[in-house]
Amino acid sequence: MKILISNDDGYLAPGLTALAEAMSAIADIMVIAPDGNRSGSSNSLTLDRPLSVTRAANGFYFVNGTPSDCVHIALTGMFGFKPDLIVSGINNGQNMGDDTLYSGTVAAATEGYLFGIPAIAFSQVHGGWAELDGAAQVARELVERGFADLPRPFLLNVNVPNLPRAALKGIRATRLGKRHMSEPVIRAKDPHGREIFWIGPTGAVRDAGEGTDFNATAAGFVSITPLQIDLTHTAQLDALRKSL
Ligand code: MN
Repeated sequence: MKILISNDDGYLAPGLTALAEAMSAIADIMVIAPDGNRSGSSNSLTLDRPLSVTRAANGFYFVNGTPSDCVHIALTGMFGFKPDLIVSGINNGQNMGDDTLYSGTVAAATEGYLFGIPAIAFSQVHGGWAELDGAAQVARELVERGFADLPRPFLLNVNVPNLPRAALKGIRATRLGKRHMSEPVIRAKDPHGREIFWIGPTGAVRDAGEGTDFNATAAGFVSITPLQIDLTHTAQLDALRKSL
């Protein structure tokens, strides 16, 4: 088995190293990741300049671009073969509910999925890398599981509570919950007196009901949500047709 690995926290992130170690025990791995933290970059591709790929001392490749750039380059010519699986992460913090739209971690997996390759995004519920070993072990177990009953390709979003493996309650298939609107932007002045804005933190959880990713992880379970990319609001199609 050949596994392509990426992330959005950059090629030096402990979560990437942990995921690469876990995967190298069960597969041939290639690692290609951004040269720095590109969290929140979503599915963006860099089109206004060329990209360079550099090989680090540990064999990881790093790119002056986004997570989607990394996987795109890897799948469209850099490596001369198609991986069997793409894994992304382990992210430094949760990607649940609406986070998945902004997440570069999920986007790296999505890029593989769009190329027809099964993909799994992994995140720890809390940032800071506590109990990273437990999350890496979960990643390995889930990849070994294989998901033979799932149609190919699949796109799975996994969030792991920051607990030792033995303390995790189990694994639950979930739907995405929802958040409230983001917190307001933070206004400040730069040293020259010009107004600047910092994007505020994500909103508080609005739907953490039974069956959601928020609910499962709060109860100590690993959450796995199967994702799809079709944004069509099918239920509104008829109403729209009538209004035309
Ligand atoms: Mn990140």
